Amino acid sequence: MGNRLLDRLRLMQAELTYIRQDIHAHPETAMKEVRTAVLVATKLKQWGITVTEGVGSMGVVGTLESKVPSNRSIGLRADMDALEIIEKNNVSYVSTIFGIMHACGHDGHTTMLLGAAKYLAENRDSFSGTVYFIFQPAEEKIGGAVAMIKDKLFDRFPMDAVYALHNGPRLPVGEFAIRSGPMMAADDTCVVTFRGTGGHGAVPHLAADVTVLLAEFILSLQTIVSRNIAPTDAAVIKFRVGGTARSFTKDVRDTIERRMKELAHGLATSFGGTAEVIFNREGIPVVNDVRFTERAIRAAESLVRAKNVYGNMPQIMAAEDFAEMLERKPGALMFIGNGNQSGELHSPTYNFNDDALIFGVGFWVSLVQQELHHDLRVSAL
Ligand SMILES: [Zn+2]
Ligand SMILES: [Zn+2]
Repeated sequence: MGNRLLDRLRLMQAELTYIRQDIHAHPETAMKEVRTAVLVATKLKQWGITVTEGVGSMGVVGTLESKVPSNRSIGLRADMDALEIIEKNNVSYVSTIFGIMHACGHDGHTTMLLGAAKYLAENRDSFSGTVYFIFQPAEEKIGGAVAMIKDKLFDRFPMDAVYALHNGPRLPVGEFAIRSGPMMAADDTCVVTFRGTGGHGAVPHLAADVTVLLAEFILSLQTIVSRNIAPTDAAVIKFRVGGTARSFTKDVRDTIERRMKELAHGLATSFGGTAEVIFNREGIPVVNDVRFTERAIRAAESLVRAKNVYGNMPQIMAAEDFAEMLERKPGALMFIGNGNQSGELHSPTYNFNDDALIFGVGFWVSLVQQELHHDLRVSAL
């Protein structure tokens, strides 16, 4: 379809593809994004953007002021880290580091944000305010967002709102999907240790049998989802020796933790043993603010047909540490179509689709121009 911004961005396709494939060939895991951070900082400086390095260890923030100043501001976030997975793609730019690959498309996320930075730096008169380009380390290991926040990200770079883009395999290229409210899950780990007393197999009535206790516990855990949580509130509990619990709301999360402890202690007591429950709250759920979700939808709809922007995508049980930023600033996380040529996220055959690059850049540029639009009264001065 004829969209003037997309037509202009097509001129950047070769350059962006080169950057994306270069990052793909040189993947770096959480908090080791040395080369990627240098690449990002070098490009931003080259395009005349003010760069702050080492935010939250490996994070990079680019600051771009418009030609016409205003006190409005926006933060755009991309993640830079790769995963410990052996790549099985047969491409010329396959990972050069054995056992590490960009299997979540963060190479594409970084490149799309770089593309937006370049375009907006060349078009400083197309918006009014300050844009912060946030390149975050360590999304996968859940810690990069918190590291940047602890390093005073939002004090040093005061922004009205913050947005992120994540690619979605199976969603066609040129399409977008989002939902307001809880969109991605909280990610907790739990370890339950039961202690019984030893005994001889011939006299089981004299011992507290931990094996039976554990079997009872695993069965009763399933009742948390089936009996303690409303069918409309999604939750999953898996249990091995330890396990993970994923949920979308504070209430469901509290219920899982409380019931898990009640069941473990209650069962242990009834079997004559003891239980210890460690419930680590790790990732928090991604909750999109309804008003900012609308703004993200509007920006996408200015780029592609409205029918290609889904405002009610299903919730995803995966976690995303952008949730930490959304807890402190209003904003939204948008999904961008990656098409169905590649494997699923976190699989050895996943690959970011370079055809999606200009749609991501286009989304960022549209969002900035929409949110930091020219105030006629200011620009008339
Ligand atoms: Zn991932
Ligand atoms: Zn990811």
